[in-house]
This record gives sequence, C-alpha cells and structure tokens, in this order.
Amino acid sequence: MPKYADVIVPLPLQEAFTYAVPPECQPKIQVGQRVIVPFGIRKFYTAIVLRLHDDTPPYPTKPISEVLDTEPIVLQKQLQLWKWVSDYYLCSMGDVFKAALPSGLKLESESTILPNQDWQADAPLKPSEEKVWQALQPKTKRSKATGQTLANLQKATGLKNILPIVKGLLEKGAVQMKEELRRTHKPKATAQADEQSPLKAAEVLTEAQQEAMDSITEQWQEKDVCLLHGVTSSGKTEIYIHLMQQALAEGKQVLFMLPEIVLTAQLTERLRRVFGTRLGVYHSRYPDKARVELYQKMLSEKPYDIVVGVRSSLFLPFHRLGLIIIDEEHETSFKQQEPAPRYHARNAALVLARQSGAKALLGSATPSLESYHNALSGKYGLVTLKTRYAGLSLPDIEVVDVGEMQRKKLMSGIFSPQLLAHIRKALEQHQQVILFQNRRGYAPVLECKACGWTPRCQKCDVSLTVHRGYRQMVCHYCGTAYDIPSACPNCEGRDLSSRGYGTERIEEQLQALLPKARIARMDLDTTRSRQNYEQILHDFEEGRTDILIGTQMVTKGLDFDRVSLVGILSADSMLAQPDFRSYERAFQLMEQVAGRAGRKGSAGHVVLQTRDAGNGIVGMVVRHDYEGMYAEQTEERELFRYPPFCRVIFIYLKHRDEKVVESLSTDFASLLRQVFGERVLGPDTPPVSRVQMMHIRKLILKMELSAPMSAVRERLNTLQEQILNMPGYRSAQIYYDID
Ligand SMILES: [Zn+2]
Ligand SMILES: [Zn+2]
Repeated sequence: MPKYADVIVPLPLQEAFTYAVPPECQPKIQVGQRVIVPFGIRKFYTAIVLRLHDDTPPYPTKPISEVLDTEPIVLQKQLQLWKWVSDYYLCSMGDVFKAALPSGLKLESESTILPNQDWQADAPLKPSEEKVWQALQPKTKRSKATGQTLANLQKATGLKNILPIVKGLLEKGAVQMKEELRRTHKPKATAQADEQSPLKAAEVLTEAQQEAMDSITEQWQEKDVCLLHGVTSSGKTEIYIHLMQQALAEGKQVLFMLPEIVLTAQLTERLRRVFGTRLGVYHSRYPDKARVELYQKMLSEKPYDIVVGVRSSLFLPFHRLGLIIIDEEHETSFKQQEPAPRYHARNAALVLARQSGAKALLGSATPSLESYHNALSGKYGLVTLKTRYAGLSLPDIEVVDVGEMQRKKLMSGIFSPQLLAHIRKALEQHQQVILFQNRRGYAPVLECKACGWTPRCQKCDVSLTVHRGYRQMVCHYCGTAYDIPSACPNCEGRDLSSRGYGTERIEEQLQALLPKARIARMDLDTTRSRQNYEQILHDFEEGRTDILIGTQMVTKGLDFDRVSLVGILSADSMLAQPDFRSYERAFQLMEQVAGRAGRKGSAGHVVLQTRDAGNGIVGMVVRHDYEGMYAEQTEERELFRYPPFCRVIFIYLKHRDEKVVESLSTDFASLLRQVFGERVLGPDTPPVSRVQMMHIRKLILKMELSAPMSAVRERLNTLQEQILNMPGYRSAQIYYDID
C-alpha cells in the first residue's frame, strides 16, 4: 500500500508535490487518478497522481483530501506525452495538465459554479448537495444567479470538503462551470448512421489519388511519418478518408487534426456521412461540457474510433491509436503562443504517434520547411500529388505594381484598375470573388494631418487600430478599446485621417465602388460566434453573396464552386514581418489563397497587388514554385543557423520597470554565456517592447539539434532560479518559446 503520492497541480511550478495518502485511500489510489489536495492556507486543487511510493520525504506532508476517480482518467501513455511536452517546451507539468484536460475535469478553489435552472432532479439530493444547491440560488426570485467560486461556496455552506459534492452535482447536470455560458454552441441533432451499420463508401478515387494512397501505404512499411505534398484542390481529403477506413478495418483508432479555422461544418458533415457515430469532434469552440463528455467517452469501453479535432485533441486518451493525420500541417495556429505550454501540436502529435506505435501522415499544399526538409533528408516518406482534381490547372497570377499605379493616379483607394476590371467581369458572369487582406479593423493608423500625432495604447508599445463598427480604437495586443477623438489632443487640429487598410475599410470602399454587389466580410470581428462564421460561409456557398473579403480565415480549407477570381490586396505587410519565417509564411498564405480560385470547371485568376513586385517570393508565388522557395529559404536558414538546422529558444523577460528588465536581461545573458557560450544572442528589444504595462526584452539561445532538451531545461531552470533570487529581480517574469 503506497504511503505517498507525487501529484501534479495545475500551476506553473516546476516540481511535483508529495502528499501523504490517508489509510482509507490507500487501497483505491492509482496513478493517473484525480485527487483533491489542499494547497497553501485556504486553497485546494484537483491534482493528478504521477507516482505512488513509500519514500518518506524530508519535510512534513499534508494528506490528500479525497480521491475523485475510481479509475485513472489520465493514462500512463498520456503522462509520457505530458512529460515530453514539458521537457521540450520548457514548461511545467502543471502547465501541460491545464492545457490537456477540459475545465470541467479540474475543479479548483477559483472555479465559478452556477446552478442550472432548467434542471430537474430524478432523485432527492443528498443533504450536503442540497446545502450547496441552496447556497447557489439567487438572493431574490427576480434576480439571476451570478455564480460563486468554490472557495466562497465552501465558506457559505460551512462544508469541509466541497469538491466531491460539486463534482456529484456537475455529473447530475444540476450545476455548471461558468465558462460554458460564454459559449453559444448547442449540439445539433443530426440524423446519424447506426453504429452497427456498415460504413458508407467514400467517393472513388481518381488514378492519381489511388497512386498517392498506395505510395503512402508503401512508405509506411519503412517510415513512421509520411508527408503528402498535394497542390490545392488535389483531393487530399478523399485520400485521408480511405486511409482512415483502412485503419478502422484493422481495429485501430484515428486522430485527424486540423487547424482551428478549417474545422467547419462543411468538413465534419462530409466525414459524418462516411463514418456516422464512430466519429467524434473535439473543438475548442464547443462548450466545456461537450468536451468533458467526449473525453470520458474516450476512456470508456466504447470510445470513438475517429476523433477530428484541433490542437488540444492530442491530449485525449486513446487505447489503440493506429493513425494520426495532420492536415494543413504548415499552419501556424498549430503552435500555441499564449499561455504556456507553448507547444507545437504537429510536433507533439508526431511524438504521440511514436509513443503509441501509430503511423502519421502530414498533409499540405505548402509544407513547412521543417517537414519538407525531413522528407527530403529521408526521415519522413514523401508523396507528391501534382494534379488538381478534375483536371484543373493552377490559377494564373497577375502581379500589379501598386507604386506605379499610384504615380499614374489610377488607384481607387486600395483597388488597382486591373483588379476592379476583373471583379466587374466576374460579377457580370455571375461568378464569385475572394479578396484577401491580412489586417482586420478599419485602418491600422489614425493620424493628425497638422502635427502627425497618432494614438497609441497606454499599456502597450503599439499604435491603435481604428474600428468603425465599434466606433472605437482597439489595441490588438491587449484588447483595450479607446474612444476615437474628435480633435487631436496634441494640437487640437480637427483633421484626423485614417491611413492604411483593414478589411472593414475595404468593404466600405468596395461597396461605394460597386453599389449593387453583395459583399460579406469574414474576420475575427464578424465571426465572434461559430454560428456567424458558418452563416457567412454558407451564404457564400449558396451564392447569396458575390464577394467575400477576409483575413487569413479565407485562405484555406474552403471549397467553393464559383470562385473565378482571387485578389491579394497587399502582399507587402506579409513580406515585412520581422521574423525568420516571414517569407515562408507569406508564400504559404498567398499560395493557399490563390488556390481558392478556379475550382470545378475552370482555372481561376489571381490579382496580386504589391509595391515590391521584384521581390523573389512574389515571383515564386506567380510560378507556384514551392521547391524554389524551399531551396532559397533553407539556404538562408542554414547560413544564419535557424530551424530546421538548429533549435532556437527565445527567452522573454518581463518587468513593470524598464530599468529593471534592462539590467536583468544583461545579467541573465552573461550568466547564460558562462554555460552556453556563443550560443547566446542578445539581449534585444523586440519590435513591440511593452505589452499590458510590462516591458519586454528578448534573448536567443541557439542549440544544436543533438543537445538533449531535458538537460538544457535543467540548466535553464537552475540559472533562472539563481537570477530571480537576486535582490530586485524577484517580481520579474521569465518564459521560453521554442522554435
Ligand atoms: Zn494594449
Ligand atoms: Zn495634431
């Protein structure tokens, strides 16, 4: 009988914590179960048991309050993956725990609980449950229940151990966690195939698709990972469906991962027609309750055979995973930026495949340089699909030099005469148009014509974006909104004008130019809810709108029949990003959006507007020359030592006081140099050097690929502890972002 348990608490703390296992819990406790542990003076958390043992620690231990589960809810295999993520991405197991489980499975003292007013009891509540239920009711009949944190509920009811009681009420559906109410999704009741009925056949593969599929299966004999490089509209999804059927026939489970914005009703409906109820969808926009249900079904004896999901789906429990497919593998949204764990879901999924003995397929029309490099060097298999579905040829791309058009005074706002002529022609022929601009809002800059003053965020080092729809200026870094001033606060001048173009302004301008056209806009502002998003797509699909203007949301995963023209309104902002991946990324975005033109029937046309027509990347987009882009970019990456040739660790240091962060970054850099020598670069001031009142400095550590990350992590932890213990630096923050 184990006397002690090392547990992971959902906090960014490096180590696991040891608690005593009370005798009554000893027979039932298992690794991977949830337990409730007291923490600090009044707090408690749901923790996961990582290890059970009898080694008495050299310090006094508190006992575990409760074991929540009868069976583990995190499998050994999952814990292995958590460990890898925390080692590789330099974060704590607690950070991974937070990201890996839906909120409903990790109650803590700060969780807010609400009563479910529609709920009806099948059986009387236990006295303790009744007490909690009563405490949650609104003060008067007319007011609404606003919810209470578990810490307050505990105080209000005087109950000693409130978590198991709330857990029981959650399972009965009597209460819910607050976060769910912010979401609007209601699961749609769709007619679903009977579980026992045979799978419906997918469409028949074309000859090229069949060849690609055979080649993938063949390469899997020798290699675990295969890259499918298929041009846009080459019918990759059909190949995926056949491979999934193959895996299912072998009794294996499949994980099909997609970037968030591609996971549309369009695709899931299509997959459901083939796989019926054997398919589950794990989406971050679904309510937490639906995610908890799916998680629990995966643990049950009848789990889904296929899960289609975004990033976090790789943390689900799989018992017999045989295949992972990662579509649009180049997509940057597979990388989590904020908060920790700052992991890359594609890379973590490949580790999951290896740990599970599963095969993996990466798919893209514009693979990431890393994956293509691995394919060319023989680490991955490579299958290329060069022909578009139904014999379509790739769209032809016309480059328009915006600088020249401006000198000739031929521009109508952001629209060149060439682009306008093509739009008019498409509308006359009852065809549709997609216009792409990688910037939302009305205009990126408001400027006083008299003195040049522009409004900036008070908390961040960035200028504010004007949003006409909200009648406000918004900081895209921290979300703070400001009123649009009627006069310049600097010189009291009244002539404030907008500079630059966001999607909102483009919509306004185009509507003025083409009053009869039916125009829709798709960006973060118009798609706050999933319904809005799907409505916009649906209207466009049904031909109820003629022109769709959007940010990168319009660049991928959408199949439309009548789009004959795509306009890239400005390539320049994409090419000017200060990031070693910016050219790769610009190529991918432009190639992907170009691929929306000309499907089913005729090759499309693309108008690409730029001030930098001579830029090499523009020429490569025109020629659809992925290989050329790859060759040029890898040469640069090798020269300047960037991935895939080495591992880059960005070290961010933050503090409220600029002087402190300045000296901290210098001191930390010299400390790091004592260990890592020339591999340390910086400190640098990043382009946006203040966000939410915190000043930021950056260091770069370039490690050889052969260096084991767990050792690097240990070194960094020691040094970080050392520097943060120095007087003056205690309140500073240091965090890491890999590759
Ligand atoms: Zn801000
Ligand atoms: Zn002014």
